[in-house]
Amino acid sequence: AYAIEAEGLYKTYAGTKTSPEKRALNGIDLKIPRGSIFGLLGPNGAGKSTFINILAGLVRKSSGTVRIWGRDIDQRPRDARAAIGVVPQELAADVFFTPRESLEVQAGFYGVPKSERRTDELLNALGLGDKAGAYVRQLSGGMKRRLMVAKAMVHQPPVLILDEPTAGVDVELRRQLWQYVTSLNELGVTIVLTTHYLEEAQELCDEIAIINRGEVVACEPTAKLLSRM
Ligand code: ADP
Ligand code: ADP
Repeated sequence: AYAIEAEGLYKTYAGTKTSPEKRALNGIDLKIPRGSIFGLLGPNGAGKSTFINILAGLVRKSSGTVRIWGRDIDQRPRDARAAIGVVPQELAADVFFTPRESLEVQAGFYGVPKSERRTDELLNALGLGDKAGAYVRQLSGGMKRRLMVAKAMVHQPPVLILDEPTAGVDVELRRQLWQYVTSLNELGVTIVLTTHYLEEAQELCDEIAIINRGEVVACEPTAKLLSRM
């Protein structure tokens, strides 16, 4: 069984007065196995964020089918989206909240009953325990990024998706994020991440799909792919 399956996935962004229409995905076929750490590797503009935003329900596909945890995003959109947590590229600006409040709001958004919330546990796991009551605006960039990961996990989805998790992040935080991602995977969470760093994909991923100009140009176990490069 697969965590995510895409078949014949196309996306064309409509043009505007000043820009022509743009085909971002050109027939993506991809099967991401459950339990893996899967890397979507490709240069800027390849279509990685578009793919992830379609999974997250933030961008509407033009055609094709997508199943998340076996649930078709057209037929069962809510069930499909409940199976993923998404860490977007940009830091959220919830400046008036504390991390604890931020997680509570997110848990409410997902309809997680109060008795099943693991807010403090999650903050501790990400090294934010002693900042639980501070204002988010006072946190460092690295802490904000870790809070974004915690927010994506409040409903305990089986799949965690990270869009360029370490872009513009220093070495220390990169290592922390990698460690957390790996430990989640060991608990059974399927991880999908985009990156344009080969090194990052190599370090973390069991399997890598290389995306270029909206197409999957290779998809293989990491060791096999690297042996041909
Ligand atoms: P990546 O994440 O791999 O850098 P993106 O999915 O962001 O790639 O972009 C793929 C292509 O689609 C690029 O050419 C980009 O300029 C274009 N694109 C992305 N978002 C939009 C948008 N909202 N409107 C128009 N074009 C877009
Ligand atoms: P719904 O009726 O499913 O709530 P919405 O269009 O309001 O439809 O939201 C789409 C879904 O996409 C949300 O319910 C949420 O599960 C998911 N989603 C959107 N953005 C994110 C994100 N940054 N992190 C995690 N999930 C997200």
